[in-house]
Amino acid sequence: MIGFDKAFETVMSFAKRVESENVSLSQANGRILYKDIFSDRDMPPFDKSAMDGYACKSSDLNKPLRNIETIPAGYKPKKSVGQGECSKIMTGAMVPQGADCVVMVEHIKEEKELVHIVKQTGLSNICYKGEDITQGDKVLHAGVQITPAVIAVLASVGCDPVPVAKRPVVGVLATGTELVEPSQSPNAVQIRNSNSYQLCAQIERAGCMARYFGIAEDTPEHIDRMLKKALAGSDIVLLSGGVSMGDFDFVPEVLQRNGVDLKFEKVAIKPGKPTVFGVKGDKYFFGMPGNPVSTFILFELLVRPFLLSLMGGQDCHMRLKAKIKETIKRKKTERLEFIPIELSNDGFVKRLEYHGSAHIHAYVKANGIIAFPIGEKEISAGTEIEVLLI
Ligand code: AMP
Ligand code: MG
Repeated sequence: MIGFDKAFETVMSFAKRVESENVSLSQANGRILYKDIFSDRDMPPFDKSAMDGYACKSSDLNKPLRNIETIPAGYKPKKSVGQGECSKIMTGAMVPQGADCVVMVEHIKEEKELVHIVKQTGLSNICYKGEDITQGDKVLHAGVQITPAVIAVLASVGCDPVPVAKRPVVGVLATGTELVEPSQSPNAVQIRNSNSYQLCAQIERAGCMARYFGIAEDTPEHIDRMLKKALAGSDIVLLSGGVSMGDFDFVPEVLQRNGVDLKFEKVAIKPGKPTVFGVKGDKYFFGMPGNPVSTFILFELLVRPFLLSLMGGQDCHMRLKAKIKETIKRKKTERLEFIPIELSNDGFVKRLEYHGSAHIHAYVKANGIIAFPIGEKEISAGTEIEVLLI
């Protein structure tokens, strides 16, 4: 049995970066950006009015002004604003030469064809050229996962198509004679296969392509047949179930029979002790215990960082420190144990009702996990602890 850090290090040492491809901006959400992106222009690209109003000289605010031009957005002002003059201007339009402020429309009164300023705020109401971004600035780092805000930045610098990491195809295979698909009615001794659907959703969330291969019964022959299919159709195969010490746990044996080199078979974590990681050429295998929380957690802790790293992605989970509301205790201390928590509105970490590795329902409410280090029985109230947001 190895420790979690060693298991993580082993897995990550195999994460060779995949190649890139170009996808259209409208298809880029959730993908991993492959290259650094630089701005091709200043932002704003010109001195821009932040308000609908009148552009004028700030030294003229106490005088009635003559309106000389109307400037909509997308129009290049033709006239320079002189003393005693103003130009009517719309939000987002270019501030004309000669003007150094914009008085919002709510603060003027028009009378006898002159513009009178009735309230002064001291604000210029101008967004200055280049105040957000200067041409040539790096606006995005390779490795970020593309979110809606990233999409906006890519669009604003004209990056379409977008260079992204190719998506590894991650095959999912469930093992367990007791399993039926969610659409089927289970008999008294059957269990609905939730892991495969959960894993596919986790894979997609990680920016990869999920491929589901079905349920293998707990026989070496059936697992072997299904594994061969999954192997042919994916870059990485995730198996759930069949990795423990039971009479019908054949996954490690079948992997080995297929030439997979098992790098580890047991990790000192809870849940997820009998976790298997194997390599065959440029294909990778994760065998995870079948209890839904085990597959969920193992995916987040080992598989997701691996997948992201394959695509050149870095930040996997957000980590932050927060204090524990009430003391949390446990009896056995020989494994690193992960438990679901709720980081609540008051900023404290609250324990959730959690009955163990079959209790995936606890994770509907959970927004993070915390770890009990090996050897520690108790995390006392008030302790500041690292929370991994999931
Ligand atoms: P195993 O790791 O095969 O010993 O399975 C441990 C527990 O997880 C058993 O109660 C299984 O019925 C359950 N289980 C295994 N595979 C799945 C699955 N795909 N979906 C939901 N539960 C599962
Ligand atoms: Mg099983």
